[in-house]
Amino acid sequence: MAPDTVAWPRPRALLLDAMGTLIGLRASVGTTYAEVAARHGLQVEPDAIDRRFPDVLRAAPPLAFPAQEESALAAAELGWWAERIDEVLIAAGGDPAPADLHQELFELYADPGRWRVYDDVAACLPRWRKQGLRLGVVSNFDRRLEGVLEGLGLAPLIDVVVVSSRCGAAKPSARPFLQALATLEVEPSEAWHVGDSPEDASGARAAGLPCLLVRRP
Ligand SMILES: [Mg+2]
Repeated sequence: MAPDTVAWPRPRALLLDAMGTLIGLRASVGTTYAEVAARHGLQVEPDAIDRRFPDVLRAAPPLAFPAQEESALAAAELGWWAERIDEVLIAAGGDPAPADLHQELFELYADPGRWRVYDDVAACLPRWRKQGLRLGVVSNFDRRLEGVLEGLGLAPLIDVVVVSSRCGAAKPSARPFLQALATLEVEPSEAWHVGDSPEDASGARAAGLPCLLVRRP
């Protein structure tokens, strides 16, 4: 066996990260923020937003909330993103955004047209399904993801979607992985995770399943 050959047994299920693994944005966050901010009379430097956004996300508390009713959850999700939007605007040298700008940006990223499916994903998912693999999405995102996956045509290929905001825990917690596996009725030893971030790797490890990391250009 070559040293780089993976010796894991063939899985019954794959858990998949969403952003950066299955789907990506069509335009940079900075480009979109600047475009929308301009409609509100605010000048925002797209490059500065793009530079600061990853740090803001890394420093943020988990996008996860205790079990609550849908309306309260919706408000919590918008509130979480409003804080991130203000943090990145301030980090980029601007002012916090008015509430209607928070709302507009939040709604905009619920639009599947803002996202794209990576070419290899469009090819792999139907093949994996045909091979009998059960597929779950485990994402540190919120309830908008379900509509995005639906609009991009991926929903019929996926058996379960677990988003951190509703699960009450975000990767690198093991909980979202275990919740997806329980729904799929698959043991951790029977599944692999595919993701693109350190949270994917350590969360999968905590849940007891191997992780493959993809690297997008
Ligand atoms: Mg990702």
